[in-house]
Amino acid sequence: MLDLFTVLNKGGLVLWKHAYTSLSGGPVEALIKNVLIEERSGTDTYVKDTYALKWSFANELDLVFVVAYQKILQLPYIDELLETVKRLFVETYKDTVIADQGIHGDYSNFDSIFTKVLQSLETKYSSNRTRAPRKFEDTKKFETTLKGSQSEVFVTFFLGGGPGTQIANNKSISSSSESGGKLAVDDDEITKNIKALKLQGSPRGPGKGGRKHGTPSRSNSTTPSTTPGTEKKKSQKQMRVWDGQIAKGEMEALDYSGGSNADAMDEDMVKSQHMDEAKLGSKNKQGIYEVQDVDMVEDDDDDYEFADDIDHMDNTQQQQQSAGGTGIFSFLKSISGQREMTADTLDPILASMKEMMISKNVAKEIADRLCESVKSSLLGKKLGSFERVSVVVRTSMESALKRILTPKNSLDILRDIEQAKSEKRPYVITFIGVNGVGKSTNLSKVCFWLLQNNIKVLIAACDTFRSGAVEQLRVHARNLRALQTSGGGVVELFERGYGKDSAGIAKDAIAYAGTNNFDVVLIDTAGRMQDNEPLMRALSKLVSVNNPDKIIFVGEALVGNEAVDQLTKFNNALKDFSGLQNPRHIDGMILTKFDTIDDKVGAALTMTYITGQPIYFVGCGQTYLDLKNLRVSHIVHSLLRN
Ligand code: GDP
Repeated sequence: MLDLFTVLNKGGLVLWKHAYTSLSGGPVEALIKNVLIEERSGTDTYVKDTYALKWSFANELDLVFVVAYQKILQLPYIDELLETVKRLFVETYKDTVIADQGIHGDYSNFDSIFTKVLQSLETKYSSNRTRAPRKFEDTKKFETTLKGSQSEVFVTFFLGGGPGTQIANNKSISSSSESGGKLAVDDDEITKNIKALKLQGSPRGPGKGGRKHGTPSRSNSTTPSTTPGTEKKKSQKQMRVWDGQIAKGEMEALDYSGGSNADAMDEDMVKSQHMDEAKLGSKNKQGIYEVQDVDMVEDDDDDYEFADDIDHMDNTQQQQQSAGGTGIFSFLKSISGQREMTADTLDPILASMKEMMISKNVAKEIADRLCESVKSSLLGKKLGSFERVSVVVRTSMESALKRILTPKNSLDILRDIEQAKSEKRPYVITFIGVNGVGKSTNLSKVCFWLLQNNIKVLIAACDTFRSGAVEQLRVHARNLRALQTSGGGVVELFERGYGKDSAGIAKDAIAYAGTNNFDVVLIDTAGRMQDNEPLMRALSKLVSVNNPDKIIFVGEALVGNEAVDQLTKFNNALKDFSGLQNPRHIDGMILTKFDTIDDKVGAALTMTYITGQPIYFVGCGQTYLDLKNLRVSHIVHSLLRN
């Protein structure tokens, strides 16, 4: 049983819908926002709460067909329903949609068509279910039957002469499907029926368009690869096995505070090691120290040249070109804007784009999904006069990338801190990630920037697991204090040693910050591999207990396919182990070691795609000033250039 079938234009306007229940939680709106706008349409099904949604594009009319049903249901006819309804709707209302861009058209007659199609498919598939199990030899026959089924439904439906008249009843439809035989209806009769339907359906009378049996423009869905990437990086630090307990002797052994070389560091030494005055930056008009942008190479000439359309014409076009006399026809056709984008023309260009994105470190799975999404948004579209497929694909990919990368919420942390201050509470940021990626170094860079802006910061040492972690933060805190030359910024370290419950330490730190008027608490957490369940549970507990304002995932810019696995599992752990009804998720990322990757900026795209969250900063080196902003234009430019 369906919950809803709806036809929307790509601006989100509903042209027609058939609802069986009122849907709670806005699953269609969520689909538009999270899938269609964000270029995730390369995936097959979208799940929101208890609903599963599938969709199909009619790009020639800029329409989207969406069906929603309860996700626990197995509805085998859904794909066929989508394609059949799409085809009938397009054939019936093509002229109406073109004439008024779908704004004022009356599509109410489509109700009865839809109901009949649905009934016929339900009957057909329920009778398929009661048949004896198919043998392997029957598979070929079954495929043929399925292929034929769309035209069967179409033909059967139009036998009755359109929605205004009594159309074929369930019995005749199911018996035609059962027998598998084609009904003897000639083309003239079908054309006549379509015309009759158009006369009723369109306020402007009969349309100009004829019947067209095109290939369905629905994209092939990609099944996300289930194999995580092969680029697993060796952890830079030695791993210990966590059994949830730590002995007193062990705890003491982990504490290196007595012999830290940081004690010997004087202010000048710290400055020479950690400050590059040239990078210090300056205040903006509002007196705020802004993090500088990553430098962008402005070399438009170097933009990637995709192979010309001529190399990627579909077979018919190539045959026409090579057949001398038809070449001029093909040329005239191309300049008069008649060419339609097909899989044949799009695939080679998208394949070369995908290859390039992977070479820029975009995870393969994400490059696949993105290209699939761009393809499904272009299939069936007509090229304008003198337009080249390669340029259209590139433009489409560019805007897809921009949509994915553009932050949905403000990245203004300073403003959020002011807001928390007005609520008389500290603003809390938790840094999470795998081992050795640069969590504590980049936490310290963020701290330095906050100190520049006169903010009182408490660093909470909640990595109670890795030996030396607390001392490392002690060194950073001392360095940061030494570097601080002016303003009212203050930094202090809140530490409770090793082996204790990190969630409890974070809680105490936040309470301490509250009573001692700290503006911000930066929580350092233990690095953990995404598959280490005990540590992931501990992280989820820390988040649930303390509900930080921001959860920042720190990841290396060098990471490739592995990023997908890391981010998915961190997010899943926050959700699955939280025990909360509204669990938290990653709010944004810091991408570290950006200075080591040239233009291989793919991790920025992968991470944003997976989480739907922005890159707050990138780490560009080992001093406290090596923190920068990464602009969307920088990523797009780097990804699409040679
Ligand atoms: P954690 O274990 O995640 O806390 O990682 P650390 O903060 O200890 O950093 C691990 C190593 O990465 C250190 O040697 C850092 O100096 C280095 N590192 C951190 N951020 C950057 C960066 O942006 N660029 C470079 N080149 N190295 C970095």
